Amino acid sequence: MATQQNKIIIITAPSGSGKTSITRHLMNVFPQLAFSVSAATRPPRGNERNGVDYYFISADNFKEKIQRNEFVEWEMVYEGKYYGTLKNELDRIWHKHQVPILDIDVKGAIHVQQQYPEQTLSIFIQPPSVEELKKRLEGRGTETNESLAARVNKASYEISFKDHFNKVIVNDELGHACQEAEQVVGKFLNDGS
Ligand code: ADP
Ligand code: 5GP
Repeated sequence: MATQQNKIIIITAPSGSGKTSITRHLMNVFPQLAFSVSAATRPPRGNERNGVDYYFISADNFKEKIQRNEFVEWEMVYEGKYYGTLKNELDRIWHKHQVPILDIDVKGAIHVQQQYPEQTLSIFIQPPSVEELKKRLEGRGTETNESLAARVNKASYEISFKDHFNKVIVNDELGHACQEAEQVVGKFLNDGS
């Protein structure tokens, strides 16, 4: 059984499904969780900070890191926009005896699961519908028309992967979804500890 130090929790879903909201809730409830900061080539939005929300890097820098084999997984999630989980980010968190929580897309989630099958809990957050997801993204007010369309267009494709994950949670009412996530994560963290 996995030890606490090398467990991994993945929260995956189409953008706008509520991953960030549910991840924040889980981090408030379980202090042993640490957010795995991904590298990304998109520009920061709103209050996002480098090294906190993402390591915002150039496409050239990202490609160098691919060459140097520094990623556990990486994907071009949207046209020309790269995102990836760095090996040394997971090591940094495990060294602190914490459990990394990854907010990554479905393809990346499947790759991490394949590499760490015994120690990973993967949760797919399903929006009630693509129409509702679009409304939430519009309500969040963070996207340009173009990036909103890219996210909505990709959502159905991403939902078709949901059966690859350990648990599917429908985020209809946020409080219920958070409670359900809390239960599954609590059990996973206690297993084998
Ligand atoms: P993601 O990280 O998956 O892109 P967010 O957590 O940012 O998603 O949620 C997208 C938007 O939808 C945010 O404005 C958030 O406050 C809102 N939201 C999340 N869950 C719900 C819900 N169950 N009902 C209504 N709005 C929600
Ligand atoms: P956003 O631009 O809205 O922050 O994220 C867009 C998408 O990229 C989301 O689905 C998010 O989960 C995903 N993402 C963020 N970091 C990573 C990562 O390191 N790897 C992969 N594969 N996807 C990521």
